[in-house]
Amino acid sequence: MSTSRITLNDGSTIPQFGLGVWQVPDAEAERVVADALEVGYRHIDTAQMYGNEEGVGAAIAKSGLARGDLYVTTKLNNNRHDRAAAKESLRVSLDKLGLERVDLFLIHWPLPTQYGGDFVSTWEALLELRDSGLTRSVGVSNFQPDHLDLIVDKTGVAPAVNQVEVHPYFANEDVRAATARHGAAVQAWSPLGQGGGELADAVVAEIAARYGKTPAQVLLRWALDRGDIVFPKSVKKERLAENFDVFDFALTEDEVGALAALDKGEPGRQGPNPDTFD
Ligand code: NAD
Repeated sequence: MSTSRITLNDGSTIPQFGLGVWQVPDAEAERVVADALEVGYRHIDTAQMYGNEEGVGAAIAKSGLARGDLYVTTKLNNNRHDRAAAKESLRVSLDKLGLERVDLFLIHWPLPTQYGGDFVSTWEALLELRDSGLTRSVGVSNFQPDHLDLIVDKTGVAPAVNQVEVHPYFANEDVRAATARHGAAVQAWSPLGQGGGELADAVVAEIAARYGKTPAQVLLRWALDRGDIVFPKSVKKERLAENFDVFDFALTEDEVGALAALDKGEPGRQGPNPDTFD
């Protein structure tokens, strides 16, 4: 089994598959990340907001893995958009994670009506952090097409990734297309629909039966076959292993299309709408 890497627009590479740790309590994060590393995961997606960077860092420290073999992402908290606060926040994150540098630092939400709508100066702060070597790459999360256009217009620098909600019931195609137009990679958050309806969908179940795979594995394969980066979350070791076991099959074009056809548009969204979320 292997997790292939994707080359980002800044020349660095990222494992296409990883572990997400949203809603994993700090006290449990060390055990969950340690289990995932044992299974073979080499990419961890955390955030300042998740409150578990210390647990993640403890597992990394005890893993004995070479730093270059691990890919670690964290994200700027919504109350740290101010330029100075953003910079200071990454230093605090690095301290908690026990790292000298993260691989990827993201603006978690654009917050288009807070801070006078000024996420451009926040983006500039992230570019400065990249230049100072505290993060290898910088990107954004939950950016809509007009948010992407604005930061690129003002700074001339596209994000390496845009991490957005994507799963068959909410395929988010317009945002995926805008992200690709800027040469950024799509990171598909909640690829299992947060454990919701897709896992019980008849179309998903039928494809899963065809390959002797589980619905969760089919949802992950769908995202991978479309070129998106994914990091499903589970705290259970057997599910961590199940979710990782997706590298021995591929969906046909028709199957990818059949799953894309499940898109419900806006009603399929699980999380907040970035245009109105503050
Ligand atoms: P997910 O789609 O990964 O679903 C996780 C849930 O699915 C689990 O809690 C469990 O209930 C279920 N599950 C997991 N494996 C399963 C299996 N094999 N079989 C059946 N059920 C299974 O949800 P998520 O955690 O929301 O998303 C993944 C990651 O994406 C997060 O942990 C986080 O890192 C990231 N994320 C980012 C944002 C953002 O705003 N940038 C928002 C949400 C999530």
